[in-house]
Amino acid sequence: MTGQSQPYDLICIGGGSGGIATARRAAAYGAKCAVVESSRLGGTCVNVGCVPKKVMWQAAHATEVMARASDYGFSGVAPRLDWAALVASREAYIERLNGIYDRNLGKSGVDVIQGYARFVDPHTIEVEGVRYQAKRFVIATGGVPGRPGIPGGDLGIDSDGFFALQDQPQKVAVVGAGYIAVELAGVLQQLGSDVQLVVRRERPLREFDEAIQTAYVESIAAHGPTLVNHFTPVGLEADWGGYTLHAEDGRRLEQLDQVIWAIGRLPNTDELGLEAAGVDLSEQGTVPVDDWQTTNQPHIFALGDVTDTPYPLTPVAIAAGRRLADRLWGGQPERRLDYRDIPTVVFTHPPIGTVGLTEAQARAEHGDQAVKVYQTRFTAMDYALSAPEAKQPSVMKLVCLGEKEQVIGIHLFGVASDEMLQGFAVALKMGATKQDFDDTVAIHPTSAEELVTMT
Ligand code: FAD
Ligand code: NDP
Repeated sequence: MTGQSQPYDLICIGGGSGGIATARRAAAYGAKCAVVESSRLGGTCVNVGCVPKKVMWQAAHATEVMARASDYGFSGVAPRLDWAALVASREAYIERLNGIYDRNLGKSGVDVIQGYARFVDPHTIEVEGVRYQAKRFVIATGGVPGRPGIPGGDLGIDSDGFFALQDQPQKVAVVGAGYIAVELAGVLQQLGSDVQLVVRRERPLREFDEAIQTAYVESIAAHGPTLVNHFTPVGLEADWGGYTLHAEDGRRLEQLDQVIWAIGRLPNTDELGLEAAGVDLSEQGTVPVDDWQTTNQPHIFALGDVTDTPYPLTPVAIAAGRRLADRLWGGQPERRLDYRDIPTVVFTHPPIGTVGLTEAQARAEHGDQAVKVYQTRFTAMDYALSAPEAKQPSVMKLVCLGEKEQVIGIHLFGVASDEMLQGFAVALKMGATKQDFDDTVAIHPTSAEELVTMT
């Protein structure tokens, strides 16, 4: 049985960041579109990603601000967190967002098909026993958290499990070295848990500029979470005393309330019936695409976390989808996403912001002679009245290229880096030089002014 009389112009499989953005933009050009979603609208970002994470980060940030209140003469600020109340408010907010996404799709004229989609042939999918046809498809099925294949691996939780916690765990090991590990470890630490950040190498965030890695590691050495390095987990056990995490070299982390795996994510392609559609898969299970988001089937596209995108980020999935719709239905044949110079923030405490090449990448790509680096370290005025042990450093680095000193990398660690980066990313994208930065009058007193006053 087919669910429609005419084929859709476009069906997006996955109602997350990328699928919704593509369908709404295509519908704005007059295309007849549907989005298929097996779970809640909004996808990872809204339900178990950016949004609940940022709410938890805000809660954690509030504790930092409250801790500083006494510096300014306030007394009686003794915060006690009601974790369950925080989680309930967060989930109510997410439910409102789910509704907003649904209404916006309706207003755009996009049909929402609820259920799990599988291809049955290159132009047909089946959802809950009903078949739908389309001239074009976008695969935007995102990913799921990965788990280690070690004994007891299932005893731990992942980021989805973190957002399902109804009680605050007191003693936690967060295993992993990327965004999710440092963000969840930071939130829990700041909210009062005893947290160990467990990495299998020297330090976390290895993809980031060396200055950022160093600043982050120094910061957590002073303020937590505790870094446990060179620890390769080989087993997890549970007994009456809690969980015990075993390392390859025999070390153990004991009496843990919770172990959180944050060791990377896996693409959602297992049950999609891609063989029936004739769509190739990579060894990692991602959907390979060309620069135009096209799979090996010319009418089937893929974008976001299900591809081997260098940046599995919400705005990247959205931007790829909108540009694809602009190209296919909007009369803009050259429109596609340029994956260079994508700005990104890690919501640690304080946050990290980065865009463009790291110093090491710039030197490898352009040679030592062509690269000049400006770096500064200071204490943000937020800590002006704080005790020395409460202060967090800010570190900023500009990576510049050639005689003109074009700014090709900006790396920030410190208070407000999250809000500071976006505008500077515009400057970098436009090809700004160090001189342009110097010629911009500073805003005082801010942390951002350091970026235009570096010598
Ligand atoms: P998703 O948003 O994952 O959407 C895919 C959707 O497809 C899902 O809703 C899924 O249910 C559905 N689906 C899958 N298979 C099928 C099927 N066969 N049929 C029907 N539906 C299907 N990014 C940022 O930019 N900033 C952040 O701060 C940030 N924080 C994050 C924090 C965490 C803990 C996590 C896990 C991720 C975070 N991300 C962040 C990454 C961001 O969430 C993803 O990059 C983004 O959601 C990817 O969008 P997508 O459209 O590719 O996939
Ligand atoms: P990442 O791929 O960023 O990091 C996972 C890291 O964990 C690996 O790089 C690896 O580091 C380590 N690791 C892998 N396997 C193991 C293992 N078996 N045992 C111990 N450690 C292991 O994945 P995340 O899950 O953190 O995040 C996925 C993506 O989601 C990110 O890349 C990011 O794009 C997005 N995201 C964005 C956020 C934001 O914008 N603020 C927030 C959260 C997620 P090593 O090799 O050094 O050991």
